[in-house]
Amino acid sequence: MNKIHFVGAGPGDKELITLKGYKHLSEADIVIYAGSLVNPELLEYCKEGCEIHDSAFMDLDQIINVMERGIKENKKVVRLQTGDFSIYGSIREQVEELHKLEIGYDCTPGVSSFLGAASALGVEYTVPEVSQSVVITRAEGRTPVPPKESLQSFAQHQTSMVIFLSVQMIGEVVAQLIEGGYPEDTDIAVVYKATWKDEKIIKGKLNDIESKVKENGINKTALIMVGKFLGSEYNNSKLYDKDFTHEYRP
Ligand code: SAH
Repeated sequence: MNKIHFVGAGPGDKELITLKGYKHLSEADIVIYAGSLVNPELLEYCKEGCEIHDSAFMDLDQIINVMERGIKENKKVVRLQTGDFSIYGSIREQVEELHKLEIGYDCTPGVSSFLGAASALGVEYTVPEVSQSVVITRAEGRTPVPPKESLQSFAQHQTSMVIFLSVQMIGEVVAQLIEGGYPEDTDIAVVYKATWKDEKIIKGKLNDIESKVKENGINKTALIMVGKFLGSEYNNSKLYDKDFTHEYRP
């Protein structure tokens, strides 16, 4: 039976969709895309006459109704989501509704913005011996965050952290990170619209980033990246160490 195709659009640059995602998009009869964050240039890949809906103006019922109608009419329906749908993608609630309607779906991953932002900076989140973990999280705003996942609690680890959906509260975010354990001179970066043509990168320390972000008027579509991985300390990996032997290099 015909299925809904969830496709990750990537972080912005229209060439950062996967080949498989591109194929689905170019064959679609109906596309529901997240207009608030998906680069509209991606819609240039759609065929003539493709019916396009911007989910920014829709509620869950309306989205599901469009999907259901498409399936009934035997159309190819693509749900184009920003970055990858597994990160703050609200995919769960959509697929639960599809289950109820016995509509199948498949998923084509996308490049999440936290990867686009690392590329923009040319950095590695997992610098050997400096940080071997990445925390992906958000500050609590109108959307609640489980108490055990507060920024303060993650800050205790002082590992690499990427904070989504929170730049509008940069002052509170910084205060919570310092309260949790990051030293005030920890490196931090804010990447606005990573991989878009109007991308902006702001670098600083925990104690000066707030004013820099405000001076630049950044209050949405940005990631906050914090941790020693942004600093000057690094170590070489064992993998390429000439004295380190392994399966492929005895
Ligand atoms: N599923 C998306 C995230 C959706 S939540 C992904 O995988 O990237 C929306 C938040 O993602 C924004 O508020 C912002 O924090 C971040 N975001 C999305 N695209 C971005 C981009 N190109 N540059 C910086 N941040 C981005």
